[in-house]
Amino acid sequence: MTEKSIPIEKFDVNTIRKDFPILQREVNGHPLVYLDNAATSQTPQQVIDTIVDYYQGYNANIHRGVHTLSQEATDAYEAARQKIQKHFNIAHPYEVIFTSGTTDGINLVANGFTSFLKEGNDILVSAMEHHSNIVPWQMLCERTGATLKVIPMNLDGELVMEEYHNLLSDKTKLVFCNHVSNALGTINPIEEIIQAAHKVGAAVLVDGAQAAAHIKADLQALDVDFYTVSAHKMCGPTGVGMLYGKEEWLKKLPPYQGGGEMIAEVTFEKTTYADLPHKFEAGTPNICGGIAFGAALDYMNNIGFDAIAQYEDELVEYATEQLLTIDGLKIYGTAAHKTSVISFNIDGIHPYDIGTIVDKLGIAVRTGHHCAQPIMDFYKIPGTVRASFSFYNTKEEVDKLVGAVKRARNMLL
Ligand SMILES: *Cc1c(COP(=O)(O)O)cnc(C)c1O
Repeated sequence: MTEKSIPIEKFDVNTIRKDFPILQREVNGHPLVYLDNAATSQTPQQVIDTIVDYYQGYNANIHRGVHTLSQEATDAYEAARQKIQKHFNIAHPYEVIFTSGTTDGINLVANGFTSFLKEGNDILVSAMEHHSNIVPWQMLCERTGATLKVIPMNLDGELVMEEYHNLLSDKTKLVFCNHVSNALGTINPIEEIIQAAHKVGAAVLVDGAQAAAHIKADLQALDVDFYTVSAHKMCGPTGVGMLYGKEEWLKKLPPYQGGGEMIAEVTFEKTTYADLPHKFEAGTPNICGGIAFGAALDYMNNIGFDAIAQYEDELVEYATEQLLTIDGLKIYGTAAHKTSVISFNIDGIHPYDIGTIVDKLGIAVRTGHHCAQPIMDFYKIPGTVRASFSFYNTKEEVDKLVGAVKRARNMLL
Protein backbone atom coordinates (compact mmCIF):
# COMPACT_ATOMS: atom_id res chain seq x y z
CA MET A 1 0.00 0.00 0.00
CA THR A 2 1.35 3.37 -0.88
CA GLU A 3 0.51 6.62 0.76
CA LYS A 4 1.65 8.83 -2.08
CA SER A 5 -0.91 9.91 -4.57
CA ILE A 6 -0.09 11.26 -7.99
CA PRO A 7 0.07 15.03 -8.46
CA ILE A 8 -2.91 16.47 -10.27
CA GLU A 9 -0.88 17.48 -13.31
CA LYS A 10 0.14 13.83 -13.75
CA PHE A 11 -3.46 12.62 -13.81
CA ASP A 12 -3.76 10.82 -17.13
CA VAL A 13 -7.16 9.42 -17.91
CA ASN A 14 -5.90 7.30 -20.80
CA THR A 15 -3.46 5.44 -18.57
CA ILE A 16 -6.15 5.00 -15.93
CA ARG A 17 -8.61 3.59 -18.46
CA LYS A 18 -6.20 0.75 -19.25
CA ASP A 19 -6.75 -0.51 -15.69
CA PHE A 20 -10.43 -1.17 -16.46
CA PRO A 21 -10.82 -4.13 -18.84
CA ILE A 22 -14.58 -3.59 -19.23
CA LEU A 23 -14.01 -0.19 -20.81
CA GLN A 24 -12.54 -1.97 -23.86
CA ARG A 25 -15.78 -3.75 -24.71
CA GLU A 26 -18.41 -2.84 -27.24
CA VAL A 27 -22.14 -2.49 -26.69
CA ASN A 28 -24.49 -2.74 -29.66
CA GLY A 29 -21.56 -2.32 -32.01
CA HIS A 30 -20.23 0.84 -30.33
CA PRO A 31 -17.45 1.30 -27.77
CA LEU A 32 -19.01 1.26 -24.30
CA VAL A 33 -19.56 4.69 -22.75
CA TYR A 34 -20.29 3.91 -19.13
CA LEU A 35 -22.12 6.77 -17.42
CA ASP A 36 -23.99 4.88 -14.72
CA ASN A 37 -21.35 5.20 -12.04
CA ALA A 38 -23.83 6.38 -9.41
CA ALA A 39 -25.47 2.94 -9.62
CA THR A 40 -22.22 1.01 -9.53
CA SER A 41 -18.65 1.75 -10.55
CA GLN A 42 -16.43 -0.40 -12.72
CA THR A 43 -13.67 -2.57 -11.32
CA PRO A 44 -9.96 -2.10 -12.04
CA GLN A 45 -7.69 -5.06 -12.84
CA GLN A 46 -5.89 -4.58 -9.50
CA VAL A 47 -9.13 -5.36 -7.64
CA ILE A 48 -10.02 -8.23 -9.98
CA ASP A 49 -6.53 -9.70 -9.34
CA THR A 50 -7.09 -9.45 -5.59
CA ILE A 51 -10.30 -11.47 -5.95
CA VAL A 52 -8.61 -14.11 -8.13
CA ASP A 53 -5.61 -14.33 -5.76
CA TYR A 54 -7.91 -14.95 -2.83
CA TYR A 55 -9.75 -17.86 -4.45
CA GLN A 56 -6.60 -19.29 -6.02
CA GLY A 57 -4.35 -18.89 -3.02
CA TYR A 58 -5.90 -18.70 0.44
CA ASN A 59 -9.68 -19.15 0.40
CA ALA A 60 -10.64 -20.16 3.96
CA ASN A 61 -12.99 -19.13 6.74
CA ILE A 62 -11.71 -16.46 9.10
CA HIS A 63 -11.27 -16.12 12.84
CA ARG A 64 -11.82 -19.85 13.33
CA GLY A 65 -9.04 -22.07 12.12
CA VAL A 66 -5.53 -22.48 13.44
CA HIS A 67 -4.49 -23.66 10.01
CA THR A 68 -2.36 -21.51 7.75
CA LEU A 69 -4.98 -20.68 5.14
CA SER A 70 -7.44 -19.49 7.75
CA GLN A 71 -4.80 -17.28 9.31
CA GLU A 72 -3.79 -15.80 5.99
CA ALA A 73 -7.42 -15.03 5.16
CA THR A 74 -8.00 -13.55 8.63
CA ASP A 75 -4.90 -11.36 8.34
CA ALA A 76 -5.92 -10.08 4.91
CA TYR A 77 -9.47 -9.39 6.05
CA GLU A 78 -8.34 -7.52 9.16
CA ALA A 79 -5.76 -5.62 7.10
CA ALA A 80 -8.64 -4.47 4.87
CA ARG A 81 -10.53 -3.29 7.95
CA GLN A 82 -7.49 -1.19 8.86
CA LYS A 83 -7.28 0.27 5.37
CA ILE A 84 -10.90 1.37 5.72
CA GLN A 85 -10.17 2.78 9.18
CA LYS A 86 -7.24 4.77 7.88
CA HIS A 87 -9.01 5.96 4.74
CA PHE A 88 -11.93 7.46 6.66
CA ASN A 89 -9.73 8.57 9.59
CA ILE A 90 -11.61 6.43 12.10
CA ALA A 91 -10.20 6.23 15.61
CA HIS A 92 -10.32 2.44 16.10
CA PRO A 93 -10.51 -0.55 13.73
CA TYR A 94 -13.35 -2.02 15.81
CA GLU A 95 -15.52 0.97 14.88
CA VAL A 96 -15.49 -0.38 11.31
CA ILE A 97 -18.30 -2.92 10.85
CA PHE A 98 -18.27 -4.92 7.63
CA THR A 99 -21.75 -5.03 6.11
CA SER A 100 -23.22 -6.19 2.83
CA GLY A 101 -23.56 -2.53 1.81
CA THR A 102 -25.16 0.78 2.69
CA THR A 103 -28.69 -0.61 2.89
CA ASP A 104 -27.53 -3.26 5.34
CA GLY A 105 -25.69 -0.72 7.49
CA ILE A 106 -28.70 1.58 7.69
CA ASN A 107 -30.98 -1.29 8.65
CA LEU A 108 -28.53 -2.35 11.35
CA VAL A 109 -28.72 1.11 12.94
CA ALA A 110 -32.49 1.50 12.45
CA ASN A 111 -33.05 -1.86 14.04
CA GLY A 112 -30.73 -1.05 16.92
CA PHE A 113 -32.59 2.14 17.78
CA THR A 114 -35.90 0.33 18.33
CA SER A 115 -35.46 0.14 22.08
CA PHE A 116 -34.21 3.75 22.38
CA LEU A 117 -37.24 5.51 20.85
CA LYS A 118 -40.77 6.10 21.96
CA GLU A 119 -43.84 8.12 21.07
CA GLY A 120 -43.12 11.82 21.12
CA ASN A 121 -39.61 11.38 19.67
CA ASP A 122 -38.76 12.83 16.27
CA ILE A 123 -36.59 11.42 13.50
CA LEU A 124 -35.56 13.87 10.79
CA VAL A 125 -34.70 12.77 7.25
CA SER A 126 -33.77 14.94 4.32
CA ALA A 127 -36.14 15.32 1.38
CA MET A 128 -33.54 13.93 -1.01
CA GLU A 129 -32.95 10.51 0.44
CA HIS A 130 -32.49 7.21 -1.33
CA HIS A 131 -35.31 4.76 -0.52
CA SER A 132 -32.82 2.79 1.55
CA ASN A 133 -32.58 5.84 3.83
CA ILE A 134 -36.34 6.34 4.11
CA VAL A 135 -38.01 2.96 4.41
CA PRO A 136 -35.98 1.59 7.38
CA TRP A 137 -36.84 4.75 9.35
CA GLN A 138 -40.52 4.47 8.48
CA MET A 139 -40.41 0.91 9.76
CA LEU A 140 -38.64 2.12 12.90
CA CYS A 141 -41.37 4.74 13.46
CA GLU A 142 -44.02 2.05 13.08
CA ARG A 143 -42.31 -0.07 15.71
CA THR A 144 -41.72 2.74 18.20
CA GLY A 145 -44.39 5.40 17.62
CA ALA A 146 -41.73 8.02 16.84
CA THR A 147 -42.54 10.64 14.18
CA LEU A 148 -40.70 11.02 10.88
CA LYS A 149 -40.21 14.63 9.80
CA VAL A 150 -38.75 15.78 6.50
CA ILE A 151 -36.12 18.48 5.99
CA PRO A 152 -37.42 20.21 2.84
CA MET A 153 -35.40 21.12 -0.24
CA ASN A 154 -35.62 23.94 -2.78
CA LEU A 155 -35.87 23.78 -6.57
CA ASP A 156 -32.09 23.78 -6.97
CA GLY A 157 -32.01 20.57 -4.97
CA GLU A 158 -30.52 22.09 -1.83
CA LEU A 159 -31.77 21.45 1.68
CA VAL A 160 -33.53 24.42 3.25
CA MET A 161 -31.26 24.73 6.27
CA GLU A 162 -33.41 27.33 7.99
CA GLU A 163 -36.23 24.78 8.08
CA TYR A 164 -33.84 22.16 9.39
CA HIS A 165 -32.90 24.36 12.33
CA ASN A 166 -36.59 25.00 13.00
CA LEU A 167 -37.39 21.28 13.00
CA LEU A 168 -34.70 20.45 15.54
CA SER A 169 -35.81 20.27 19.16
CA ASP A 170 -35.17 18.28 22.30
CA LYS A 171 -37.63 15.74 20.86
CA THR A 172 -35.24 15.01 17.98
CA LYS A 173 -33.33 11.78 18.59
CA LEU A 174 -31.96 10.98 15.15
CA VAL A 175 -31.12 12.80 11.93
CA PHE A 176 -30.45 11.05 8.61
CA CYS A 177 -29.03 12.61 5.54
CA ASN A 178 -26.99 11.57 2.55
CA HIS A 179 -23.62 13.19 2.04
CA VAL A 180 -24.20 13.37 -1.72
CA SER A 181 -27.61 12.81 -3.37
CA ASN A 182 -27.51 9.99 -5.90
CA ALA A 183 -30.39 11.53 -7.88
CA LEU A 184 -29.23 15.16 -7.99
CA GLY A 185 -25.54 15.17 -7.11
CA THR A 186 -26.02 17.75 -4.34
CA ILE A 187 -23.27 17.78 -1.71
CA ASN A 188 -25.14 18.36 1.53
CA PRO A 189 -23.76 20.59 4.32
CA ILE A 190 -23.27 17.68 6.67
CA GLU A 191 -20.90 19.55 9.00
CA GLU A 192 -23.65 22.01 9.85
CA ILE A 193 -26.25 19.24 10.06
CA ILE A 194 -24.14 17.21 12.49
CA GLN A 195 -23.20 20.15 14.72
CA ALA A 196 -26.76 21.39 15.02
CA ALA A 197 -28.12 17.90 15.75
CA HIS A 198 -25.57 17.37 18.50
CA LYS A 199 -26.63 20.63 20.16
CA VAL A 200 -30.06 19.11 20.82
CA GLY A 201 -28.61 15.72 21.72
CA ALA A 202 -29.59 13.90 18.50
CA ALA A 203 -27.43 11.29 16.77
CA VAL A 204 -26.65 11.60 13.06
CA LEU A 205 -26.30 8.93 10.40
CA VAL A 206 -24.79 10.09 7.14
CA ASP A 207 -25.30 7.90 4.07
CA GLY A 208 -21.97 8.20 2.28
CA ALA A 209 -22.77 5.72 -0.51
CA GLN A 210 -22.71 8.33 -3.25
CA ALA A 211 -20.04 10.56 -1.73
CA ALA A 212 -17.38 7.95 -1.06
CA ALA A 213 -16.19 7.66 -4.66
CA HIS A 214 -15.61 11.40 -4.86
CA ILE A 215 -14.93 12.75 -1.38
CA LYS A 216 -12.56 11.32 1.21
CA ALA A 217 -14.53 11.94 4.39
CA ASP A 218 -12.66 12.48 7.66
CA LEU A 219 -15.10 10.91 10.08
CA GLN A 220 -13.39 12.04 13.27
CA ALA A 221 -13.28 15.64 12.08
CA LEU A 222 -16.94 15.43 11.06
CA ASP A 223 -17.79 14.02 14.49
CA VAL A 224 -20.54 11.98 12.82
CA ASP A 225 -22.17 9.17 14.80
CA PHE A 226 -22.69 6.74 11.91
CA TYR A 227 -21.48 6.70 8.30
CA THR A 228 -22.25 4.06 5.68
CA VAL A 229 -20.70 3.19 2.32
CA SER A 230 -20.91 0.44 -0.32
CA ALA A 231 -17.68 -0.87 -1.87
CA HIS A 232 -19.26 -1.30 -5.30
CA LYS A 233 -19.65 2.45 -5.78
CA MET A 234 -15.92 2.98 -5.26
CA CYS A 235 -14.23 0.44 -7.54
CA GLY A 236 -14.84 -2.51 -5.21
CA PRO A 237 -17.11 -5.55 -5.58
CA THR A 238 -20.83 -5.77 -4.83
CA GLY A 239 -22.17 -7.25 -1.62
CA VAL A 240 -19.78 -5.57 0.81
CA GLY A 241 -19.65 -2.23 2.57
CA MET A 242 -18.88 -0.65 5.87
CA LEU A 243 -20.79 0.91 8.69
CA TYR A 244 -18.83 3.28 10.88
CA GLY A 245 -20.23 3.82 14.32
CA LYS A 246 -18.79 5.75 17.23
CA GLU A 247 -17.61 3.32 19.89
CA GLU A 248 -20.11 4.61 22.47
CA TRP A 249 -23.00 3.99 20.06
CA LEU A 250 -21.83 0.57 18.94
CA LYS A 251 -21.55 -0.49 22.56
CA LYS A 252 -25.07 0.71 23.29
CA LEU A 253 -26.75 -0.77 20.22
CA PRO A 254 -27.96 -4.36 20.51
CA PRO A 255 -26.69 -6.89 17.95
CA TYR A 256 -28.56 -6.97 14.65
CA GLN A 257 -28.43 -10.64 13.79
CA GLY A 258 -27.66 -13.70 15.85
CA GLY A 259 -25.35 -16.46 14.70
CA GLY A 260 -21.80 -17.66 14.61
CA GLU A 261 -18.89 -15.23 15.02
CA MET A 262 -20.92 -12.67 17.03
CA ILE A 263 -20.95 -14.55 20.35
CA ALA A 264 -18.61 -14.82 23.30
CA GLU A 265 -20.29 -17.80 24.96
CA VAL A 266 -23.42 -19.74 24.09
CA THR A 267 -25.49 -21.96 26.35
CA PHE A 268 -29.20 -22.65 26.07
CA GLU A 269 -29.77 -20.48 29.14
CA LYS A 270 -27.84 -17.42 28.07
CA THR A 271 -25.57 -16.16 25.34
CA THR A 272 -23.06 -13.37 25.74
CA TYR A 273 -21.99 -11.31 22.76
CA ALA A 274 -18.58 -10.88 21.31
CA ASP A 275 -16.68 -7.62 21.54
CA LEU A 276 -16.78 -5.04 18.78
CA PRO A 277 -16.76 -5.34 15.82
CA HIS A 278 -17.74 -9.03 15.91
CA LYS A 279 -20.96 -8.35 17.83
CA PHE A 280 -22.36 -6.99 14.55
CA GLU A 281 -20.75 -9.49 12.19
CA ALA A 282 -22.79 -12.67 12.54
CA GLY A 283 -22.00 -15.57 10.23
CA THR A 284 -19.36 -15.97 7.56
CA PRO A 285 -18.89 -12.56 5.97
CA ASN A 286 -18.00 -11.67 2.39
CA ILE A 287 -14.33 -12.35 3.11
CA CYS A 288 -13.07 -11.96 -0.43
CA GLY A 289 -15.24 -8.87 -0.88
CA GLY A 290 -13.82 -7.24 2.23
CA ILE A 291 -10.26 -7.86 1.08
CA ALA A 292 -11.10 -6.54 -2.39
CA PHE A 293 -12.71 -3.44 -0.81
CA GLY A 294 -9.31 -2.74 0.77
CA ALA A 295 -7.64 -3.16 -2.63
CA ALA A 296 -10.14 -0.71 -4.16
CA LEU A 297 -9.25 1.89 -1.54
CA ASP A 298 -5.55 1.36 -2.28
CA TYR A 299 -6.26 1.82 -5.97
CA MET A 300 -8.19 5.06 -5.53
CA ASN A 301 -5.76 6.49 -2.99
CA ASN A 302 -2.91 5.81 -5.38
CA ILE A 303 -4.58 8.12 -7.85
CA GLY A 304 -5.56 10.47 -5.05
CA PHE A 305 -8.89 11.99 -4.15
CA ASP A 306 -7.75 15.55 -4.86
CA ALA A 307 -6.89 14.64 -8.43
CA ILE A 308 -10.10 12.64 -8.78
CA ALA A 309 -12.27 15.49 -7.50
CA GLN A 310 -10.63 18.11 -9.66
CA TYR A 311 -10.86 15.98 -12.80
CA GLU A 312 -14.48 15.01 -12.17
CA ASP A 313 -15.48 18.61 -11.44
CA GLU A 314 -14.07 19.70 -14.80
CA LEU A 315 -15.85 16.84 -16.52
CA VAL A 316 -19.22 17.63 -14.91
CA GLU A 317 -18.85 21.32 -15.72
CA TYR A 318 -18.09 20.51 -19.35
CA ALA A 319 -20.97 18.01 -19.58
CA THR A 320 -23.38 20.53 -18.03
CA GLU A 321 -22.42 23.21 -20.55
CA GLN A 322 -22.67 20.85 -23.49
CA LEU A 323 -25.99 19.28 -22.46
CA LEU A 324 -27.55 22.70 -21.94
CA THR A 325 -26.96 23.47 -25.64
CA ILE A 326 -29.73 20.96 -26.43
CA ASP A 327 -33.15 22.57 -27.00
CA GLY A 328 -35.68 21.88 -24.25
CA LEU A 329 -33.19 20.13 -21.97
CA LYS A 330 -33.62 20.83 -18.28
CA ILE A 331 -31.22 19.78 -15.54
CA TYR A 332 -32.60 18.79 -12.13
CA GLY A 333 -30.16 19.45 -9.32
CA THR A 334 -28.41 22.78 -9.75
CA ALA A 335 -27.00 23.13 -6.26
CA ALA A 336 -23.98 25.37 -5.77
CA HIS A 337 -22.12 22.35 -4.38
CA LYS A 338 -22.58 19.25 -6.45
CA THR A 339 -20.59 16.37 -7.84
CA SER A 340 -20.58 13.86 -10.66
CA VAL A 341 -24.30 13.47 -11.34
CA ILE A 342 -26.36 15.18 -14.03
CA SER A 343 -30.08 14.40 -13.99
CA PHE A 344 -32.06 15.79 -16.91
CA ASN A 345 -35.15 15.62 -19.07
CA ILE A 346 -36.14 16.98 -22.44
CA ASP A 347 -39.54 18.66 -22.75
CA GLY A 348 -42.13 16.29 -24.12
CA ILE A 349 -39.99 13.13 -24.03
CA HIS A 350 -40.15 10.31 -21.49
CA PRO A 351 -36.72 9.66 -19.92
CA TYR A 352 -37.03 5.94 -20.64
CA ASP A 353 -37.17 6.59 -24.38
CA ILE A 354 -33.94 8.59 -24.28
CA GLY A 355 -32.24 5.85 -22.25
CA THR A 356 -33.27 3.20 -24.74
CA ILE A 357 -32.00 5.10 -27.76
CA VAL A 358 -28.65 6.07 -26.27
CA ASP A 359 -28.10 2.43 -25.21
CA LYS A 360 -28.37 1.46 -28.87
CA LEU A 361 -25.36 3.75 -29.34
CA GLY A 362 -23.38 2.03 -26.58
CA ILE A 363 -24.06 4.60 -23.86
CA ALA A 364 -25.13 3.43 -20.41
CA VAL A 365 -27.18 5.96 -18.45
CA ARG A 366 -29.83 5.34 -15.85
CA THR A 367 -33.45 6.33 -16.31
CA GLY A 368 -36.25 6.37 -13.77
CA HIS A 369 -36.68 7.59 -10.22
CA HIS A 370 -33.23 6.46 -9.02
CA CYS A 371 -34.66 4.99 -5.81
CA ALA A 372 -35.63 8.51 -4.81
CA GLN A 373 -39.29 8.79 -5.72
CA PRO A 374 -40.04 11.69 -3.33
CA ILE A 375 -37.61 13.85 -5.32
CA MET A 376 -39.44 13.07 -8.56
CA ASP A 377 -42.77 13.87 -6.88
CA PHE A 378 -41.29 17.18 -5.72
CA TYR A 379 -40.43 18.13 -9.30
CA LYS A 380 -43.68 16.53 -10.58
CA ILE A 381 -41.85 14.36 -13.10
CA PRO A 382 -41.92 10.57 -13.63
CA GLY A 383 -38.17 10.34 -13.53
CA THR A 384 -35.02 11.64 -15.18
CA VAL A 385 -32.18 10.52 -17.38
CA ARG A 386 -29.12 10.40 -15.15
CA ALA A 387 -25.57 10.54 -16.43
CA SER A 388 -23.12 9.94 -13.62
CA PHE A 389 -19.39 10.30 -14.01
CA SER A 390 -16.24 8.73 -12.72
CA PHE A 391 -12.56 9.63 -12.99
CA TYR A 392 -12.19 7.18 -15.90
CA ASN A 393 -14.72 8.98 -18.10
CA THR A 394 -13.53 11.43 -20.76
CA LYS A 395 -14.65 14.58 -22.54
CA GLU A 396 -14.92 12.54 -25.75
CA GLU A 397 -17.46 10.36 -23.97
CA VAL A 398 -19.38 13.46 -22.92
CA ASP A 399 -19.44 14.52 -26.59
CA LYS A 400 -20.81 11.11 -27.55
CA LEU A 401 -23.53 11.42 -24.91
CA VAL A 402 -24.51 14.86 -26.13
CA GLY A 403 -24.58 13.67 -29.75
CA ALA A 404 -26.69 10.66 -28.82
CA VAL A 405 -29.18 12.72 -26.80
CA LYS A 406 -29.53 15.14 -29.72
CA ARG A 407 -30.18 12.22 -32.03
CA ALA A 408 -32.77 10.81 -29.61
CA ARG A 409 -34.47 14.19 -29.44
CA ASN A 410 -34.70 14.44 -33.20
CA MET A 411 -36.14 10.96 -33.46
CA LEU A 412 -38.70 11.41 -30.70
CA LEU A 413 -40.03 14.91 -31.29
C1 LIG B 1 -26.45 3.38 -3.89
C2 LIG B 1 -26.97 4.14 -2.77
C3 LIG B 1 -27.55 3.51 -1.67
C4 LIG B 1 -27.76 2.03 -1.60
O1 LIG B 1 -26.57 1.33 -1.64
P1 LIG B 1 -26.61 -0.26 -1.72
O2 LIG B 1 -25.22 -0.62 -2.13
O3 LIG B 1 -27.62 -0.62 -2.77
O4 LIG B 1 -26.97 -0.77 -0.38
C5 LIG B 1 -27.99 4.31 -0.63
N1 LIG B 1 -27.86 5.64 -0.66
C6 LIG B 1 -27.30 6.29 -1.70
C7 LIG B 1 -27.16 7.77 -1.66
C8 LIG B 1 -26.84 5.56 -2.79
O5 LIG B 1 -26.28 6.20 -3.82
